[in-house]
Amino acid sequence: MGINLHSYNTISKELDPAGVTLVAVSKIKPVSDIKSLYDAGQRDFGENYVQELVDKSGHLPSDIHWHFIGHLQSNKVKYIAPFVHLVHGVDNFNLIKEVNKQALRCGRVIDILLQVHISEEETKFGLSEEQLAALITQVREAGFSGIRIRGLMGMASFSEDTDKVRSEFATLKKLFSSLPNEIPFDPLVLSMGMSGDYKIAIEEGSNMVRIGSLLFGARS
Ligand SMILES: *Cc1c(COP(=O)(O)O)cnc(C)c1O
Repeated sequence: MGINLHSYNTISKELDPAGVTLVAVSKIKPVSDIKSLYDAGQRDFGENYVQELVDKSGHLPSDIHWHFIGHLQSNKVKYIAPFVHLVHGVDNFNLIKEVNKQALRCGRVIDILLQVHISEEETKFGLSEEQLAALITQVREAGFSGIRIRGLMGMASFSEDTDKVRSEFATLKKLFSSLPNEIPFDPLVLSMGMSGDYKIAIEEGSNMVRIGSLLFGARS
């Protein structure tokens, strides 16, 4: 148990000069491990489950930026709306509508990333290129004032085939590069890359990586 500080320092040294934000993925890991990484300087943490995120955030410093990186269900948005920093992985209009509603209820504007399906795997969530364009249009027309689309998120295939992983990231980067015409925020966020593929993701243009096991150890 315990965190891998050596790995944290190594990864930070790679990311900082490149201007890439590290989201430390702490799902299933105890509050004490998160606090250790916090004490080492880390401020952005990612969680996949609403209840777990709510419980942990109550026991940790309030200047942590909490990223929700799991599949968010509409009926649970209200629990994280008061404090969540960025919701990755949003892939449908009804969810955006609910995030907007709960954000307004809290007097906040909540930043979201749209998840694009780039892997070959069937089980992953995410939008096709066509669905992405349609959703952006739909959101713009709805004129929501409680949410901001800040960029895109994607997960590559879990594969040893690095060419394939690279080309999936490149596909997402290409879509991302065509976004600024439509979305007026600077800088936009491209969240791609995990423990096994973050180096490739950065080479392909990622500016936010979500890393868990390299920092906290394998999850059982
Ligand atoms: C668990 C998870 C990660 C981190 O995975 P590691 O391989 O442990 O780095 C990143 N992104 C998402 C969406 C996850 O669910």
